[in-house]
Amino acid sequence: MGIAPIIVRGFWVVALLLALPKGYAGEPAPAAGQITSPPSRIVATVYGAAGEVAGSLSVLDTGSARWMIDCGAFAPEREVEKEKRPEPAAQQSTLLPVDGRSIAAVFITHAHTDHVGRLPLLVEGGFGGPLYLTDATAELLPLMLRMQVRYDEGRPRSWTWSKQAYERARTGQRPVTVHWHAGCPYRNAIAQKNLESARLSFNELAARFERQDQAAQVTPCRRCTDEEVASIVALCRRVGYGKPTEVAPGVSVTLRDAGHIPGSASVLFEVRVADKKRRVLFSGDVGNDLSPLFAGPQPAPDVDAVFIEATYGPTFRDPSVRDERAQFRRSVAEVVGGGGVAWIAVFALDRTQKILHELHLAQQEGMLSRRVPIYCTSSTALEITGIYRQHRHDAWFRDLPARDPSAWSPEGLRKSAGLPKNLPYPSLLLTTSGMLDNGWSRMLLSRLASEKSTTIFLVGYQDPASPGGMLMRAVGLLREGTRDQASSIRPAAVLPS
Ligand SMILES: [Zn+2]
Ligand SMILES: [Zn+2]
Repeated sequence: MGIAPIIVRGFWVVALLLALPKGYAGEPAPAAGQITSPPSRIVATVYGAAGEVAGSLSVLDTGSARWMIDCGAFAPEREVEKEKRPEPAAQQSTLLPVDGRSIAAVFITHAHTDHVGRLPLLVEGGFGGPLYLTDATAELLPLMLRMQVRYDEGRPRSWTWSKQAYERARTGQRPVTVHWHAGCPYRNAIAQKNLESARLSFNELAARFERQDQAAQVTPCRRCTDEEVASIVALCRRVGYGKPTEVAPGVSVTLRDAGHIPGSASVLFEVRVADKKRRVLFSGDVGNDLSPLFAGPQPAPDVDAVFIEATYGPTFRDPSVRDERAQFRRSVAEVVGGGGVAWIAVFALDRTQKILHELHLAQQEGMLSRRVPIYCTSSTALEITGIYRQHRHDAWFRDLPARDPSAWSPEGLRKSAGLPKNLPYPSLLLTTSGMLDNGWSRMLLSRLASEKSTTIFLVGYQDPASPGGMLMRAVGLLREGTRDQASSIRPAAVLPS
């Protein structure tokens, strides 16, 4: 989510609101434990999520070292944004504005992709850790990185594959598996004379294979994904809330509960420059006290400067959001009560769990039949739900209802890899492309749009330029030529966060 700087006191913090797409080559950083010089300055640079809502990445330079706060990806490429940005979003997510080797440590505010999605690039670029985060963020991070690494089809990588496997793929037997991680045993087992390689994005590689031979399908190696995720997880250093950690002489950092999702934190730097202690806070995404599950953020401490998330800055978040939640439950019950499909577009982390909780409530209220099947097409979303359940006694949740182990388990919940062949009527369907902006959602839209009784629920932030945003404005998916179909679909309740 986006941030805006607020200089609370004085002007000693030089805040540069720049979105430099590439090119900064700093000095290689000493390992965090080997920094001996005291801080000489405090310069903060915001490289992402400034004037836009994704790609969070800031750097605090204390003279003695450079510290990164978040390393997020941009949202998938969208038509309108392409005109605004120097690089399309998909491409921006494959670039880093800083040299990974120049960073002494990274502090992660929370596990949403727009805050962690470029960590693979950072590590590939030579960043050697540590990564400071809370316990829950450390548990969520591998799941989020797995999705990022597996589906990041625009990032250039050094692929290798076996010539024999390629020849087999040409006969249409099975796709050729392509590897990119040096730690993959399958990659390393390919004999040198049998090896082929190229440095391209996955999309470019797939296109090249298709040009050479239409039959040759290609698939990225799952083990390489696991190895890459493990190499990042190995850098994690867990820290508890409220415990100052001295990361270098004169630089102490404390993570504070931001009340946004499990594990979310604001990062408080205390930096001593010439015997004066200065405090700078990076808020990360901040929760609010309207959430049925989260208790809300810790109040901000007394600081000299704060860089604060401001995505909903100009919006008044009035308490009637509770009515909107009740309205959402009623609308879902109405759709399935009438024999239709309620398709709810969620994000794997947090929005899925909020919606499962609402469905659980609707069943408890007797509004929603417990016999109606609920399909969730993302196993990652269900794994994340398990982490919520494990952490239900932690301080960020409200006492009730979150302490109830079934708070995220409405009856009839089924795991379904992909869409069931014959989606029964009535049923509920949760898919994890919250703005309907992956190819799969667009296919599904075409399929379900031809069915009469489908209602789409958009329940999270919708970028105006995303398919979800366009649908909300009843413009439809012009790019995909499905305008007529889209207009026959009724976008229903929009539940703010
Ligand atoms: Zn977030
Ligand atoms: Zn591999």
